[in-house]
Amino acid sequence: MNSSKNIILSIAVPIPLNRLFDYLPPDNYDLQQLKPGIRVKVPFGKQTKIAVLIEVKNDVACDVSKLKQVDAILDTEPLLSHQDIQLLNWAKHYYHHPVGDVFISAFPTALRKGKTSELKSTAYHLVTATGSTVDESLLKNAPKQLALLKLLQSQRNALSSQEIASSFKLWRAPLKALITKGYVCTSDSRNSQSSHKQITLQSPLTANPQQQAAINSISAQLEQFAVYLLEGVTGSGKTEVYLQVIEQVLARNLQVLVLLPEITLTPQLEARFKQRFSVLIETYHSQHSENQRHTAWIKQQKGRSAILLGTRSALFTPLPRPGLIILDEEHDASFKQQEGFRFSARDIAIVRAKMLNIPIILGSATPSLESLYNVDKKRYQLLRLPHRAGNATPPSLSLLDIRNQVLQQGFSPPLIREINRTLAKNEQVLIFLNRRGYAPTLICHSCGWVAQCSRCDANLVVHYKQQKLRCHHCASEQALTQQCLACKSAELKPLGLGTERVEQALHQLFPEHKSVRLDRDSTQRKGALQLHLDAINQGKVDIILGTQMLAKGHHFPNVTLVVLLDVDSGLFSIDFHAPERLAQLIIQVAGRSGRATKKGRVIMQTRQPEHPLLNTLTHQGYQAFAKTALAERKQAELPPYSYQALLRANAHEQQLPLEFLLAVTELINQHNDQALVLGPVPAPMAKKSGQFRYQLLLQHTQRKQLHLLLNDLMPKIEKLKQARKVRWSLDIDPIDLY
Ligand code: ADP
Ligand code: ZN
Ligand code: ZN
Repeated sequence: MNSSKNIILSIAVPIPLNRLFDYLPPDNYDLQQLKPGIRVKVPFGKQTKIAVLIEVKNDVACDVSKLKQVDAILDTEPLLSHQDIQLLNWAKHYYHHPVGDVFISAFPTALRKGKTSELKSTAYHLVTATGSTVDESLLKNAPKQLALLKLLQSQRNALSSQEIASSFKLWRAPLKALITKGYVCTSDSRNSQSSHKQITLQSPLTANPQQQAAINSISAQLEQFAVYLLEGVTGSGKTEVYLQVIEQVLARNLQVLVLLPEITLTPQLEARFKQRFSVLIETYHSQHSENQRHTAWIKQQKGRSAILLGTRSALFTPLPRPGLIILDEEHDASFKQQEGFRFSARDIAIVRAKMLNIPIILGSATPSLESLYNVDKKRYQLLRLPHRAGNATPPSLSLLDIRNQVLQQGFSPPLIREINRTLAKNEQVLIFLNRRGYAPTLICHSCGWVAQCSRCDANLVVHYKQQKLRCHHCASEQALTQQCLACKSAELKPLGLGTERVEQALHQLFPEHKSVRLDRDSTQRKGALQLHLDAINQGKVDIILGTQMLAKGHHFPNVTLVVLLDVDSGLFSIDFHAPERLAQLIIQVAGRSGRATKKGRVIMQTRQPEHPLLNTLTHQGYQAFAKTALAERKQAELPPYSYQALLRANAHEQQLPLEFLLAVTELINQHNDQALVLGPVPAPMAKKSGQFRYQLLLQHTQRKQLHLLLNDLMPKIEKLKQARKVRWSLDIDPIDLY
């Protein structure tokens, strides 16, 4: 080994330690190829790992004798750009998460396993309109790029990568630069899709004045960073606003990243995008095969695709020609990753847009309190679509007091009448209940025994059809017992309502009418959800019953009555986020009503008709609710008026997580100036999957101070001997305290 060169590679290895590791280059390496952002294979302990090169150091002073050599270099060019690396570094600091884990999360599984970053299908390259008329002096410092551009300009057709390679050595970097500059574009076939061609296949709808105002505001400054909060009631035409802004971004030959909360919504939106645009549109989400995600990621990385639609996991997909980021349903909790690297895709997307100096649009009918607060602080620009598009009118909300009413399987007599009236008009009814299974509790009528999970602090849920008792918090299940385990009595009663039980009730109460149930149990089989949705849209179904799966995005034009069977159970959570979530859920579910020309109604059954949350929402709407809720958060100094970090720990033995968090508390007390330290306390669900869980909440009115404290604390926590006996994690800006 030639130690006189002393080139040292700083590498992010995906292990739970928050530091980079130094390696020596392999034998016979090409210095040109050693660029930050390539993947390498390295020996680590007794294993080999796929890791990412972060920095190349010419460290003369270092003793290299102890360093190991990289086994192999996997990529010929960096997969992550300088800006990607900058973003991931930011995320690592902000979330105090191990660097290797953060970097590897940017890649799809196939690339994490070391699969090639080349595509099998041939790529064809041709000059764009800009590229064919570009002023040569702009490239006078890049002779290779200029030569390659001239080569491509001289061709009538696109050239394949192989054809370029035959007349050009080291062509990849200059080609990439030309693509990034928008002078060259790449496609899957030799004569498709030159950028001279029309981008749109279908002309846009005529925007209404509010839509037009929103489009104009965003279009006026497309070339710089800004955050827009597009607050539009359900059915107000937000998607049309996205489409018209996207068209302008595509016209400038830039890429668009669209992030969505739910996989189920991607096919609908993808279809709508593909009807409108002729450009290459890729989708990226966890239900795609490893191969599909691999291809989509690389097409995006090579600048071939123009639009990428994806869920949270698409956040870090490369954007060599960044133009715009859209994050739809920004309030949705699924944008927060809840295990491992616990990041908020919304918050990182905003940082990403800022680093790339491009606009980002956050859309929602029920914006998060954080985003509304940021509008107040003038950090985001609010654009409002207060009316439904076309001829649709907003639904009317009402509370139905069910105290002292005789309920039939959860349905009050006035509700049954209302449903019958709607069905008689040949209109559809949607019934919402956020609880799967037959009944949430199985109780003994003789002695009061309740069937509980032995591994969790939770009741077992009755699943009648499968004759099972299931825990919804761990994987355990058992046969539905006919006998009380405490007193042997056979008087076991299911208590409370789940969707399975309501489905049965619907057959009894409305025997003439066809109903369908949409929840995680009924849509498990691949394609089942789509079958149900098709049946609904073809009018083969009169009553749609389901869980929160129904709340999101679906467009059921013939639904005119939405029923929330039981809103009360959401009113009593101890988590301060709960009212916000409940209000959003109610408004989103309500938004399924009356989406077309017929007027919609929403009925909420409650035993709390005086409850302020329900009253404000019903009579004054979401904005009024949000205003009150923010005032309450301010008063209590809760986020967004303060910043939180939650340390969680669990172990099989109860005292271990407690001892660990007590040791952490001691560390905090050595340094802490003003952070509020709450705990350690048992987690709201103190036992889950056989693990005892404790938590410690840190809160500070200054974000910076909180992070300074954590910077100091984290390395010390990692070294605690108590840390080795528990599983622990840090959650920055936690969105639920469970
Ligand atoms: P959102 O995303 O806000 O829920 P959509 O963009 O899905 O709303 O629009 C709801 C419905 O209104 C769709 O059927 C859409 O085609 C229609 N729509 C949207 N904008 C217009 C418009 N300017 N004129 C007529 N119909 C429109
Ligand atoms: Zn009993
Ligand atoms: Zn359990």
